Amino acid sequence: MTARNKWVHAFSEGDGRNKMLLGGKGANLCEMTRIGLPVPPGFIVTTEACLAYLDGGRLPDGLMDEVRSHVARLESAIGKRFGAARDPLLVSVRSGSAMSMPGMMDTILNLGLNPASLEGLIQATGNERFGWDACRRMIQLFGKVALGVPDELFDHEMIALKQETGAHHDVDLDAPQLRSLARRFLDVVSGHTGRPFPEDPYEQLETAIAAVFRSWNGKRAIDYRRQFKITPAMANGTAANVCTMVFGNLGNDSATGVGFTRNPATGERVVFGEYLTNAQGEDVVAGIRTPKPIAALAQEMPQMHAELMDLAAKLERHYREVQDFEFTVERGKLYALQTRNGKMNAQAMVRTSVEMVREGLIDERQALLRVPPAMFEQLMVPRLDPGFKGQPLATGLPASPGAAAGQIVFDADTAEARGKAGEKIILVREETKPEDIHGFFAAQGVLTSRGGKTSHAAVVARGMGKPCVSGAETIVVDVRNKVAHVGPAELKEGQVITIDGSTGAVYFGEVPTVEVEFTQDMATLLKWADQAARLGVRANADTPRDALRAREWGAQGIGLCRTERMFNQMDRLHVVQEMILAETPEARHAALERLRPIQKEDFKGMFKAMAGLPVTVRLLDPPMHEFLPTVAQLELEIAHLRHFREAIASLEEMPETLKLLNPRLHHQYEGSLTKLLGGLSEFKESHLDDELIAKKADVLRKVRALAEVNPMLGHRGVRLGISHPEIYEMQIRAILEAAADCVREGIAVAPEIMVPQVVTVEELKRIATLVKRVQAEVEAAAGIKVPLRFGSMIEVVRACLRAARIAETAEFFSFGTNDLTQATFSFSREDAENKFLPLYYEAGLLQDNPFEVLDVKGVGELMKLAIANGRAQRPELKVGICGEHGGEPLSIRFCHQAGLDYVSCSGPRVPIARLAAAHAALLDDEHRTH
Ligand code: ADP
Ligand code: MG
Ligand code: MG
Repeated sequence: MTARNKWVHAFSEGDGRNKMLLGGKGANLCEMTRIGLPVPPGFIVTTEACLAYLDGGRLPDGLMDEVRSHVARLESAIGKRFGAARDPLLVSVRSGSAMSMPGMMDTILNLGLNPASLEGLIQATGNERFGWDACRRMIQLFGKVALGVPDELFDHEMIALKQETGAHHDVDLDAPQLRSLARRFLDVVSGHTGRPFPEDPYEQLETAIAAVFRSWNGKRAIDYRRQFKITPAMANGTAANVCTMVFGNLGNDSATGVGFTRNPATGERVVFGEYLTNAQGEDVVAGIRTPKPIAALAQEMPQMHAELMDLAAKLERHYREVQDFEFTVERGKLYALQTRNGKMNAQAMVRTSVEMVREGLIDERQALLRVPPAMFEQLMVPRLDPGFKGQPLATGLPASPGAAAGQIVFDADTAEARGKAGEKIILVREETKPEDIHGFFAAQGVLTSRGGKTSHAAVVARGMGKPCVSGAETIVVDVRNKVAHVGPAELKEGQVITIDGSTGAVYFGEVPTVEVEFTQDMATLLKWADQAARLGVRANADTPRDALRAREWGAQGIGLCRTERMFNQMDRLHVVQEMILAETPEARHAALERLRPIQKEDFKGMFKAMAGLPVTVRLLDPPMHEFLPTVAQLELEIAHLRHFREAIASLEEMPETLKLLNPRLHHQYEGSLTKLLGGLSEFKESHLDDELIAKKADVLRKVRALAEVNPMLGHRGVRLGISHPEIYEMQIRAILEAAADCVREGIAVAPEIMVPQVVTVEELKRIATLVKRVQAEVEAAAGIKVPLRFGSMIEVVRACLRAARIAETAEFFSFGTNDLTQATFSFSREDAENKFLPLYYEAGLLQDNPFEVLDVKGVGELMKLAIANGRAQRPELKVGICGEHGGEPLSIRFCHQAGLDYVSCSGPRVPIARLAAAHAALLDDEHRTH
């Protein structure tokens, strides 16, 4: 390192914006000093020095010289000498990196104490108890942090002393007792390290700085950085802040506390916090005594309270952000020891954003940018009462956010029945299937013991905005006996549980929850967001109810209406099955004709709910066998029926056998046996069982015929529309008739028909011809024009490459990034997420799960290519996205940059997407102007 390298910066000189170099705590100490707040003087040893230390295994050359000269400056500034025998200067050495990592690294207080300076401190303060208290704290902290002495050894001495003296609390110990404690502590240190406790203040300082630097690589700190994804680009190394000690434990005119400039739970504009009289900083957090609310300070020390309010106001005016600060009062003088941006819950974030704009503290742009979009998730779902602290009985994956309580039900039919009766229920299954869908509608939430975040249960629950915990593997579900086991505990049908889909926790009984509240402040903030955003936000919704809710949350249209979700509803599933199983065109036609009016009503409901906003309907997409029972299920049913038939046969032989074996018994039961056999033979002659077996066998044959090795790459999407045009025709007619009805009723409509899984424009052209014919017929019959847009999903790699041609026929593109991601990676999603993906992103082979965060480098490139070629062909081409990425903030940022017109996501994510769209536009502008 060159001689010009500067390892140390005084609080009075350091650049308050340079958190990378000085750490957040250090930078803010500089900043507070600069604007004239009462910070005890000090200096910062930089994060660069930390990295040099960790790299070279020793403090860099020249560093301690710089430290000495800074200590000298401190000494002359406050007129005390470091570690001197008379009225000594003491310091703290405090950790602090660019990113706040509360409590993860170490701080040592009261540095500079030794037998001589302790004497001086006692003399200067006239307080012997205080002196020994400071001393024993210093030995313990220094011993633990700098010398690696286990904390328990000190705790052990403390407990022993309390027992010997009958003291309950630390504060009950008097000066002589604390002195003996300090001596025991010294023995602990020398006993453990084999060396006496260092008395030279500079040796203490040097050792402490090195120890604070090492705490950057402590286990706690490393775990924390991994958990919160703090990369070296965000924070690299910790600074060591050397700060003049001030004492809140010098008597009843002294105190220490922490505060927020506004209430972090509600956002209310009132200074919020706690303090302790006659205590040292760490005591407030340590919970040794119960602190008092800041309001009490107004009575206890009115002058200090007034100064503290002034301090809070100054902090906010300077930082233009809610601050979380530490303060200490030493004998009637207030000191500021730390400040940082306050962490708040979502509700408080929103309220403070809106209020700070009204107060003129920030502008709308800042108000929007300070709220992380993902935070809105908290507001869009019911949550557990924040005051609740219970132990979960099991934990699964947080599959769909929100909390819900209800009685356990193990099957969808019971769920539906009891839900309709107005009961609150939680559907508990091993895993769910499409035929469980009616159970979802009726349930408050869904819990499964198997499956990942993309299992059927998870995806469907998210789409409906219902809480779901999936893959809670410690729960063993026994559907047959309507019971589940968790270790020794038993969960019976009807018992109440609470699930928290935001954390994955499952609790016994009903835990109080806080409901969703779309506040005026949220509406205001999101209005600003819409003004700032360029991207539109639509919702994925399959029912009029979901559509209405999505509109309340600000959706500007429906970007994806999945008709198969409509097919799956109970009252029509059997018609759908009839349609699929039909052996003749006539039979199929008849079933379709029964479905058409049902679908038409569905679409009318959607159009009415959206009142003229665009509604994009996707024609049938999934392979048909998804609507049929599985092979295993059918085989089981057939086997049961056969058993039944055999059972009857053996019953018929029973009277004869019985007569032979036990004539007395035979005589006794002859009458009832004959009666039973009579009934059974009547049943046998009806051949009901044979009919049923034949029917099931038929279905089984069909299911086997439809079975595919890779259904997701099989006979689905537009391929169905090509091979069974009658199905698509029915859907198209239902959409257009619904639209025509609405137009006739004076309701504005903007229907859009979207074709899934397109690989070549030729497919699209065929469907377009069908659409044109049906449209002409519907318009002729109704005598009115029906507005319609026709477009294509882009979810196949080939479609991206052939976008120019596809745009000849498609008026809009909607990227289906779930399938497109699978196709781009050649990963099947279920297998990837359950088997190897976690390993991939933990090992750093992939940065994120590409099914959650859009893979900008791969999938994104394909999208850009498709957009460019599509728009070259058709400049007015509308482009949207309807995969799950459409509600994910980072992916939305990309969609903005790539020039999409809108994103579409599940209803509850609409507010998140609106805010993310605003962020994208604001940050993008920033890029361009800077
Ligand atoms: P953390 O980052 O864990 O909050 P700090 O460095 O802020 O650690 O210090 C821990 C406690 O010690 C805090 O309560 C702080 O206010 C207090 N403290 C730190 N330095 C001083 C000092 N120079 N004078 C008085 N109290 C201090
Ligand atoms: Mg602190
Ligand atoms: Mg798809």
